[in-house]
Amino acid sequence: MAQTTEASEETPEQQAFRLETRAWLSANLNKRAVADSQGSLLSSPSAEDLPEARRVQRLLSEGGLAGIAWPGEFGGRGATIVEEMIFAQEAEPYDLPTEIFVIGLHLVGPTLVVHGTAEQQARWLPPILDGTDVWCQLFSEPEAGSDLAALRMTARQDGSDWIVNGQKVWTSGAQTSNWGIMPARTDPSVPKHRGITYFAVEMDSPGVSIRPLRQMSGHSHFCEVFFDDVRIPGENLIGELNGGWDVTRTTLQSERHLTGASHGAVDFESLLALARSSTADGELTDQVMRQKLAQIYTEGELLRYLSLRTTTALRQGRPPGPESSVAKLAVASLLRSAGDVALELLGPQGLVEPASSEIAGWVDFFLMAPALRIAGGTDEIQRNIIGERVLGLPRTEDPTRSAAFAS
Ligand SMILES: Cc1cc2nc3c(=O)[nH]c(=O)nc-3n(C[C@H](O)[C@H](O)[C@H](O)COP(=O)(O)OP(=O)(O)OC[C@H]3O[C@@H](n4cnc5c(N)ncnc54)[C@H](O)[C@@H]3O)c2cc1C
Repeated sequence: MAQTTEASEETPEQQAFRLETRAWLSANLNKRAVADSQGSLLSSPSAEDLPEARRVQRLLSEGGLAGIAWPGEFGGRGATIVEEMIFAQEAEPYDLPTEIFVIGLHLVGPTLVVHGTAEQQARWLPPILDGTDVWCQLFSEPEAGSDLAALRMTARQDGSDWIVNGQKVWTSGAQTSNWGIMPARTDPSVPKHRGITYFAVEMDSPGVSIRPLRQMSGHSHFCEVFFDDVRIPGENLIGELNGGWDVTRTTLQSERHLTGASHGAVDFESLLALARSSTADGELTDQVMRQKLAQIYTEGELLRYLSLRTTTALRQGRPPGPESSVAKLAVASLLRSAGDVALELLGPQGLVEPASSEIAGWVDFFLMAPALRIAGGTDEIQRNIIGERVLGLPRTEDPTRSAAFAS
């Protein structure tokens, strides 16, 4: 959606940052072809994309535009999430390797800043910023998704090392990552949240098998990852032994900000152009289609205001509240509606081998849009959060919460 969330109440420093970013991007990077703009949703980068992605990330890092909200002492810009959002708005038309580095920059970095030792920060943060290292998030398991604390991956101490066994699933970008963050169970005799420890694991360690999962779009955005007696050195333990749930929560908090803030994923102008091109004279006279487009536009605008609300909270030093969950729900629903409308406009062209990259982009968009209702916390979980934290409804009882995990 052609969304400028540029707020009139930006401080002079934020406005200066916006102008600096705009100038830097236009001088250093290429804009994406319009036809590519829809295909970038949950894209599936491959190993061949890595050299160029690393080049661009290094450029951003040298330009002071990587790790914008990271503290200066760790090589970041020391700005706030507001500047991160300004950067995301300005960068939207450009060809950036966002998908490849998103976990490292937005989940791993902030987690290490809070929970990493000085050695871990010095070892892992700089290669995230300059694109040397690509990280993935090895959290979900076949029996632990919404209830992540139920994870079954085990880590057993062996001298100063840890031996890890089990399976992760839905791991976005595992096939292009060289590092992963991974909570594993180190003490099954205590309640589930208390027996977890958080590790960093090298993806090429002996015993790690990565199996990409093919989706209905034909892409393999995520993978199954199997761990068979994988040895992790003790220095890769992040936070406290059996205190991994705290570390995990820090990562999940960063993820919630990220998904709640991703509001601009539908390019409304392109959708409108597609609608116009589907008529003989470019005039949109079909009342039902006009209504659908108006609905999508309106929902996009509402999301824009929601996003400004989050920005305002951040600007005033307040953490964003459950509006992140509302935004996540609304984004997922909007993407789904936009994908449906695009396919309706394409008609039979959407069913056969796409005749152009633009059509392929919209077909991809349609096929990937439902994923957003699951990724980063399902619609139902967002509704639970809204029910409990906004509407004040009683919390859902979890009978397994206080029992020993292995009881
Ligand atoms: C595109 C994509 C990318 C992803 N990338 C990653 C990644 O990089 N790393 C990673 O670790 N994970 C990743 N995930 C996994 C994602 O976090 C999980 O799929 C999600 O948390 C849901 O877990 P689940 O699939 O196990 O479903 P389950 O938790 O088994 O849920 C099944 C169904 O039950 C519902 N449900 C569950 N609990 C409740 C409840 N308490 N109240 C009401 N309804 C409930 C859910 O809403 C859902 O409809 C990704 C997922 C997708 C789709």
